[in-house]
Amino acid sequence: MIRFSDEQIMVRDMVSKLAKEKVRPIAIEADRKHDFNPELLKILHENGLLGLLLPIELGGGNADLTTCCLTVEELSSVDGSVGISYATHTTGLFFVVDWTTDTQKKEYYEKVSRDGAYFGVALTEPNAGSDAASIKTRAVRSGDQYLISGNKVMITNAGVADVFMVFAVTGPGERDKGISAFIVDRDVPGLSFGKEEEKMAMAGSSTRELIFDNAEVPAKNLLHAEGKGFEIVMSEFMKSRMLVASMALGIARGAFEEAVRYAKERTQFGKSISEFQGVQFMIADMAMNIELTRRMIYTTSEYIGHERVGKEVAPYAAMSKCFASDMAMKVTTDAVQILGGYGIMKEYPVERMMRDAKVTQIIEGTNQVQRIIIARDALRR
Ligand SMILES: Cc1cc2nc3c(=O)[nH]c(=O)nc-3n(C[C@H](O)[C@H](O)[C@H](O)COP(=O)(O)OP(=O)(O)OC[C@H]3O[C@@H](n4cnc5c(N)ncnc54)[C@H](O)[C@@H]3O)c2cc1C
Repeated sequence: MIRFSDEQIMVRDMVSKLAKEKVRPIAIEADRKHDFNPELLKILHENGLLGLLLPIELGGGNADLTTCCLTVEELSSVDGSVGISYATHTTGLFFVVDWTTDTQKKEYYEKVSRDGAYFGVALTEPNAGSDAASIKTRAVRSGDQYLISGNKVMITNAGVADVFMVFAVTGPGERDKGISAFIVDRDVPGLSFGKEEEKMAMAGSSTRELIFDNAEVPAKNLLHAEGKGFEIVMSEFMKSRMLVASMALGIARGAFEEAVRYAKERTQFGKSISEFQGVQFMIADMAMNIELTRRMIYTTSEYIGHERVGKEVAPYAAMSKCFASDMAMKVTTDAVQILGGYGIMKEYPVERMMRDAKVTQIIEGTNQVQRIIIARDALRR
């Protein structure tokens, strides 16, 4: 029902095929082992997905936000862990596309297109989650470098990424006005990584702590200007929240497809369970909610587009992320219900999808935080 461009359809169909044929088998195994499989990076790189945002002349796809959302949706429809990992990489690249100088772009675009560099984004700290302006990680200028000290927790791709967008305080006591953003290569002296977190969900993605102990980051790796970090991260949240919304949509769609397939195959009381109205109504509600969410996401992603965006789109990105993730939680729970006891068994993917859906209600600003943004806007009008 939504009209996509020829390019968007081409990428979506290519990723859909890739997800089903190559990603799904690896993903199921990664969830069981609670381990990110580096083979996925190879697959994503070989198929041009790591550089989707890059200019055509560098072998990229010059993709817009909608294309990125379609890609995340397709990957997440087979596995949320690949979805979160790839969405985080894409968010990291959005910072580079939108906020770096030509020299910085040249260096990091080349790292992606030539070496398949993978990105992570490090904002959250042990005592600063929803209240991101209260981060304590400190960056002090020392000659031609910054010395960064502090800890970042729950960082997706921490064990596999080559480059991190890192947020640290350069102006203590100034809260959001004192935060700066840096591009940090994983091998800078003074940066180390904590143990792999054991997670209930997104178990096939890497989540670790980043430990900065006077980490030496070249001054040229500052993004934009000192004190602009919070403005930068808030601006990119509009796009990254759309990626999380697409992740939720993909997870819900994957669970829905499994539930429909199962309902047609399973027989009870001498009939296919798909003939029972109680099951049909659940399927109808799932289909409606998925379709509504799809329209919300892709209308918003087209509106947000490809450029740097202003605060006016914040409530729409928040609505998409919040609605899509709540919808995914409901749809995946109902999918488990349709599979009955088998829905709980690891042999079927819906229990994994239900676990993964939960994460989408928490990351990139919890759904309470999204509701604050939406309500504030509604009350201001
Ligand atoms: C799998 C996973 C991957 C992640 N990846 C990354 C990553 O790559 N990079 C990164 O920087 N972070 C990452 N995070 C961290 C994530 O962004 C935070 O968990 C999230 O922002 C919430 O912060 P918190 O966990 O500290 O919860 P808190 O902020 O402590 O919130 C706890 C509870 O209080 C509620 N709450 C807080 N403030 C308010 C308020 N004002 N009004 C109402 N309710 C409120 C919250 O909604 C929540 O229910 C990841 C987390 C997970 C689980």
